[in-house]
Amino acid sequence: MSDDPLHESLKPYSISHKSFLQLLDYLEEHQYHTICFDDIVKNKNAAKQKTVILTFDDCPKHLFDFAIPELQKRKMKAVFYMPTAHLGGYNDWDAAEGRTRVDLMNEDDLKELNRLGMETGAHSHHHIHLKKVDEKTVEFEVKESKQLLELIIGKEVISFAYPFGSVPKNYKQILTAAGYRFAISIYTPFENDLSIRRFIYHDGDTTETLHKKLSFFYRCYRIVRDPFKMY
Ligand SMILES: [Zn+2]
Repeated sequence: MSDDPLHESLKPYSISHKSFLQLLDYLEEHQYHTICFDDIVKNKNAAKQKTVILTFDDCPKHLFDFAIPELQKRKMKAVFYMPTAHLGGYNDWDAAEGRTRVDLMNEDDLKELNRLGMETGAHSHHHIHLKKVDEKTVEFEVKESKQLLELIIGKEVISFAYPFGSVPKNYKQILTAAGYRFAISIYTPFENDLSIRRFIYHDGDTTETLHKKLSFFYRCYRIVRDPFKMY
């Protein structure tokens, strides 16, 4: 969490305990229902109701100390994206840029997430910029991570989060061939099931900015803005 002095360098991708509670309180007060991607597979209309999908990238182990218990308390769920080569390891890609090294979840932790009713998604095998590597490497990264996770949790993995929001060429074809139904990017000129726009919730957000980010108008704004924000 960003209010842990050791995690300061991970901002804005890490938030404080207070910000996290503000987010969950907001969702609860405004009667948002948290769903996962498998809910949409089970019921096509699931995402049409007042719903949000909460996502956590990289699976830091410390999520079990606060974030996950807080979700459970409120009967909320979320999707957790694990880069499989780093299972039980560290966020080496952050450390390489001088950010704090944190412990990541191991196989038992992922099984525990599954037991708690949370969804696990793939986040490539090595946590690399998929736009910067050749197609064979992209294919390996998306397939390997899916297979390893499925072996661990004994359940189909249907969603993928592009590391660094880096969406490779031919992503639709490659992810579909690997068996994914959904993939989340950050900025994307055209949104579809394999390139879903996300927004980052950070410590600077207030209930007012959250209200805006969850609105229809913000979605329209992103359609106009995202093509200029591409990596
Ligand atoms: Zn990541």
